[in-house]
Amino acid sequence: MSIWKRAMLNCYYHASLPWRRQRACAAARQFRTPLVVLAYHRVAADRANSWTTKPDEFASHMAWLESRFEFVSLEEAQHRIRCRTKSRPCVSVTFDDGYAVNCEFALPLLLSKRIPVTYFVCSRAVLAGECFPHDVAMGNRFRPNSVAELRRLAAAGVSIGCHTRTHADLGPVVDADRLQDEVVVAGEELQRAVAAPVRYFAFPYGQHRNLNPRVFHLAYDSGYEGVCSAYGGYNWPGDDAFHLQRVCVDGPLIRLKNWATIDPWRARHIHRFFYGPEIAPRATHTDGALHA
Ligand SMILES: [Zn+2]
Repeated sequence: MSIWKRAMLNCYYHASLPWRRQRACAAARQFRTPLVVLAYHRVAADRANSWTTKPDEFASHMAWLESRFEFVSLEEAQHRIRCRTKSRPCVSVTFDDGYAVNCEFALPLLLSKRIPVTYFVCSRAVLAGECFPHDVAMGNRFRPNSVAELRRLAAAGVSIGCHTRTHADLGPVVDADRLQDEVVVAGEELQRAVAAPVRYFAFPYGQHRNLNPRVFHLAYDSGYEGVCSAYGGYNWPGDDAFHLQRVCVDGPLIRLKNWATIDPWRARHIHRFFYGPEIAPRATHTDGALHA
């Protein structure tokens, strides 16, 4: 984020702070506090791209959140969205893509603070050790997490999620075999590799144009417990809890503050992606077993 953009965001945040506080109080009284699901990508000192957060920034994010929010897992987030009774502000932390460098600072910090995290990875990057083509195109050969790293993370309590096999944009895909491969087979591969349940799926890119109604139903039918987008948007009590809307907060603290305290403009203008009839919660817990 440029210095100019950061300064503008700072002005907007502080100018709208009274509105944010008033709205937060009203929401708490009405049990309407939204649940914010955060998406990070890469925590590293090099600031190689716009989806990299510096370690000191990430530490300040977690410290700021700790003093204001309760951290919950995606599973608990879904429960709170469905039951509509909690008013305490809470956030859920997720990561996308699976960069090995996250094992150096971000994940140890989260684990040391017992902050629940869902970590979405692509099966081909993990199993073949392949860098992402979009990083290579920018001259970056970032090592993806290995199977051994993910096994250690899963054993330490990190929830491993599926982010497709190839980081494909599934928005325009209509071929059923391709969708099966990117959504179901990729999840099964990961589940076998890390020897832990893979319960959640996250769309790569995650904007409206990258989402696909078929994937929501395929994910549900194959045993996933939820699907994440990343176009921004808040999860209000009573919303469809199978589809968790996330906000990307890579970068400076002001970006996180703006999102987490409910950006008035975005709360009004960002609309939930409609994939058809809402998917009902399962009657019984699947224990993360994907069943293609
Ligand atoms: Zn991604």
